[in-house]
Amino acid sequence: MRLTLPLIAPSDPRESEELTRLVATMQGTYSKGRHTPAGSAESVDLQALSRILAESRDPSALEDAWSGWHRVGRSMRTDFVRYVELANRGSRELGFADTGEMWRSKYDMPPDTFAREVERLWQEVRPLYRSLHAYVRSRLAAVYGPDEVPSDRPIPAHFLGNMWAQSWESIYPLVAPPEFSARFDLTPALVARGTSPEQMVKFAESFFVSLGLPTLPASFWERSMLVRPRDREVVCHASAWDIDFVDDLRIKMCIEITGDDFTTVHHELGHNFYQRAYARQPFLFRDSAHDGFHEALGDTIALSVTPEYLREIGLVAEVPDPSQDLGLLLYRALEKVAFLPFGLLVDRWRWDVFSGAIPPSEYNRTWWELKERYQGVAPPSPRDEGEFDPAAKYHVPSNVPYMRYFLAAILQFQFHRALARAAGATGPLHRFSIYGSREAGRRIQAMMEMGSSREWPDALEALTGERRMDAGGLLDYFAPLQRWLDAQTRTGSAPS
Ligand SMILES: [Zn+2]
Repeated sequence: MRLTLPLIAPSDPRESEELTRLVATMQGTYSKGRHTPAGSAESVDLQALSRILAESRDPSALEDAWSGWHRVGRSMRTDFVRYVELANRGSRELGFADTGEMWRSKYDMPPDTFAREVERLWQEVRPLYRSLHAYVRSRLAAVYGPDEVPSDRPIPAHFLGNMWAQSWESIYPLVAPPEFSARFDLTPALVARGTSPEQMVKFAESFFVSLGLPTLPASFWERSMLVRPRDREVVCHASAWDIDFVDDLRIKMCIEITGDDFTTVHHELGHNFYQRAYARQPFLFRDSAHDGFHEALGDTIALSVTPEYLREIGLVAEVPDPSQDLGLLLYRALEKVAFLPFGLLVDRWRWDVFSGAIPPSEYNRTWWELKERYQGVAPPSPRDEGEFDPAAKYHVPSNVPYMRYFLAAILQFQFHRALARAAGATGPLHRFSIYGSREAGRRIQAMMEMGSSREWPDALEALTGERRMDAGGLLDYFAPLQRWLDAQTRTGSAPS
């Protein structure tokens, strides 16, 4: 029970109310953030600024969108300092040293051991990240010139296609060599056959059913929101819900008929199938083994949405030649490998903020120190303590722990490798789909139905036969790409 919530209010009612108000105020500031792009008359929101970062190739427009959004953090700093103080007070009343220690205590091991585990996983994947970073930097230098992207410096964050430089797939067309350029994209096939949003979800459901899991309840189809309503404002950010903690499962999403949303639907249904599998556990155990498991499950299924699988279910007529595999892997690495250091550093920073190792006077400097050390990225121009750049990422002002996304990025490949082997895979992991494998389904079900009633190594073992989190699955998956990357960048240098 002590570990159920990510934020514990102090018992003093005035302080409790103050903490609630602080978080609500910071969230409000974040959600109302806007910027007027240079040369434009109207201010735009984060979504529009993100589109500029993804699509523009004009360095000054990129820098303007980046800097414009990051201003949102400035006014949150004072509130954030007080929030840290009050959140820590609440955590201490429950017996934790601070809120960071409370967050690290959710992993069935001493908090310091967990911190070492995370660092171990990072060290396993770091060589692959360095290879990707070195390659991308050399390509960006070729596009923008060595003055904009120097070959011996961290990559300026505004050139990576994403507001936080956390995933880089938007710049795939810039960095892929011409022979990769025909990226396999499901979107045209979905549009051509007139796929409806409901059919998108049906495709994903039928994948889970092929593993031996039961179909979704009728109420799912009656109560989910699959399209943007015409008559009201809604939050379109995709989410999965477990309304009564039994079987009232729903997703809320504004589905667009694209290959990306096809993947997202699998992610969200992963949450719903997990929720239903543990519904018979006592209330406190109706959760995943640890929070990384919940995020990893649907992504694991999405890794099995291979071109061959899409042909098998009749969605595409032809699959790309194996010579295109490197393009598929590069695109996926820009999304998933590029994410790893970011997934790690958000909470590395917050752990030190909560413990007091980082004082408020050094919030911004230390943030960029970590960005440089882990991601090898730098701000477009020097930043000082007048800025508060961590707050420009949703999860920081909203008090949402972030390490789960790092863990999920590792676990989904560990899951995929184990399930692929159980389903009889022999060839490369990136070509294998577990579609139709009852043995894979049996293992997934065994893991999911435990909920959080057992320590997570038991749940991991039920699915994979292994008791340690292991980045080997991710490294195996991307091994052909790593060989190719290293051949491209024999002389390249990467972040230390
Ligand atoms: Zn999720």
